[in-house]
Amino acid sequence: MEVVIGMGERHYWLPVSSRGEPRMIRHAFRGSRWEGRPAGTSVCGVPCAMAEPNELDWFQAPTCRACTEVLIAEQDVARHGEGGE
Ligand SMILES: [Zn+2]
Repeated sequence: MEVVIGMGERHYWLPVSSRGEPRMIRHAFRGSRWEGRPAGTSVCGVPCAMAEPNELDWFQAPTCRACTEVLIAEQDVARHGEGGE
């Protein structure tokens, strides 16, 4: 599988169920949006079963902290890479 970690790459959030997790978690995924794939690997590297989330899923699923940290780190790298400060 191709793993691309690029700066400024687009991502989207989706509540998904993953192995070993009793409830859904909102992970980030590479791409501009979910295109109906049945499975995918999150930004934090967890294989997830993907399905159309309902409103309750969005409401109840906590945001994945690992995904958040990866994305923040990438933003920091992108910022420093611009050489502004
Ligand atoms: Zn995650």
